[in-house]
Amino acid sequence: MSGGAGRERPAPGAEGRPDDEVWQVRVDAKACMGTGICAGTAPGRFELRDGASHPTSESVAPAREVVDAAESCPVEAILVTHRGTGARIAPEE
Ligand code: SF4
Repeated sequence: MSGGAGRERPAPGAEGRPDDEVWQVRVDAKACMGTGICAGTAPGRFELRDGASHPTSESVAPAREVVDAAESCPVEAILVTHRGTGARIAPEE
């Protein structure tokens, strides 16, 4: 089976991986300070509820704005991993 012809543009950290991979997005609601930076950085990807951010979808296609949101969180409450392998994608360690 081929992996397709690059429908999704790989986000930083995902280059060289199959373009049909799926990322897992999680927010640590206890660490989140409710700044809303993530929702502003990646519109439609995060929503604030009860003072904490939540991903609108926990499984997403690779997308740069999701990485940008994880990198911009001041308390590193957002964790993006590769669903298949569990490898950490963002934020950088
Ligand atoms: S940027 Fe971080 S602290 Fe701010 S709302 Fe998003 S997850 Fe919470």
